[in-house]
Amino acid sequence: MGLLARFARQWVAGETREDALRVAKAANGRGIDAIVNHLGEHLRDTGAVEATLGEYFALLDGLDEAGVRGCVSAKPTQFGILIGREYAFSQLLQLLDAVKARRRALWIDMEGTSTTEDTIWIYERLFERYNRVGLCVQANLRRTAEDLGHLLALGARIRLTKGAYRETPDLAFTSRQAIDRQFLVHLEALFRGGRDFAVGSHDGRMIARAIELSSAWPTPFEFQFLQGVREPLKADLVSRGYRVLEYVPYGPNWLPYFSRRLRERPRNAIIMLRSLVTD
Ligand SMILES: Cc1cc2nc3c(=O)[nH]c(=O)nc-3n(C[C@H](O)[C@H](O)[C@H](O)COP(=O)(O)OP(=O)(O)OC[C@H]3O[C@@H](n4cnc5c(N)ncnc54)[C@H](O)[C@@H]3O)c2cc1C
Repeated sequence: MGLLARFARQWVAGETREDALRVAKAANGRGIDAIVNHLGEHLRDTGAVEATLGEYFALLDGLDEAGVRGCVSAKPTQFGILIGREYAFSQLLQLLDAVKARRRALWIDMEGTSTTEDTIWIYERLFERYNRVGLCVQANLRRTAEDLGHLLALGARIRLTKGAYRETPDLAFTSRQAIDRQFLVHLEALFRGGRDFAVGSHDGRMIARAIELSSAWPTPFEFQFLQGVREPLKADLVSRGYRVLEYVPYGPNWLPYFSRRLRERPRNAIIMLRSLVTD
């Protein structure tokens, strides 16, 4: 586990809040704002959810004290959506109030399809109260075209991603080509009708298309990347004047997040195995 944890550090700031603040501050030094996430998911116990909320309050204090530029991102299953959507809403509303008081932004991550409907339900209620709350949508889901139409009509803030969760073909496009096609369609919808949205992809083709679209439809938007991925590209975009943010996850529960990163890029698993053998 020690070696695994060391390898995971490429994508995870570390286990403590101090680790996250240090990595976020370093990103700021490279012209990149941070999106900090306390790792944890699938909580079914109200005590654990409330501890997560407490950690986010401390994180917001830490961001202010350290003078970090950036925002926070939260997963609905960290905030009790599996206990009930009203309960999760009540917890996320407390987080939203704290974020709003500090004039920062809040992003709501999107997880597996069993939570999509309730996540959108919660998001809409949060968005009514603060327009700097954004929602991740996943291009691999068949429902996303319809969801996006509805969310854009509300003026929602969107982070477009390809989607990190394995889904069945009745609910999701599963081939790389089909997902890429969907991403490009939704990207164009964002440039035509979106507000202050985020392009959440490491894929050079998606990024190049976003740049192309931004000259046809000049509108404020940002590129969002994960920590530890495509550093030269981030630097290049910053130097060209684009707004770039980096998702900085931290906490002891890093394994599910780390497994998704390995799965989406098999080369990462090979590099990890090599480093374990040669260590
Ligand atoms: C800020 C952010 C937030 C996210 N939030 C969510 C969320 O809430 N819910 C969710 O389901 N998913 C989320 N994701 C993950 C997302 O859905 C994808 O699983 C993940 O980003 C991989 O897809 P991709 O678009 O980066 O491209 P991929 O299809 O994985 O990669 C395409 C191409 O990008 C290039 N590339 C990718 N990685 C590297 C690398 N390390 N080095 C060099 N080239 C590389 C390669 O050319 C590769 O072929 C988030 C992603 C980001 C960036």
